[in-house]
Amino acid sequence: MKSDLTRQEINEHIKNIFLKESSAKEIKKAKKLAMSKNIKLGELRKKFCKKCYSLFNSNNSEIRIKKGFKITKCKCGHISRYKIKN
Ligand SMILES: [Zn+2]
Repeated sequence: MKSDLTRQEINEHIKNIFLKESSAKEIKKAKKLAMSKNIKLGELRKKFCKKCYSLFNSNNSEIRIKKGFKITKCKCGHISRYKIKN
């Protein structure tokens, strides 16, 4: 990938990585790329584990809703909590 991509293009690239069930390695790369360009992952942040960078799916994670929080437990043991917006 060239470095002269626009923010928009990088954004699209990052989104695509998340859409195609990428490996942890690719997720990590996407996150680094976003950080280096000051791009906010927003909702995408909730789709992967902050510790092992696995994309959450029904095989590797447990999702629970509790007191207005969405709690996702990854297979690596890391627990992510996100406030649910109304
Ligand atoms: Zn994990």
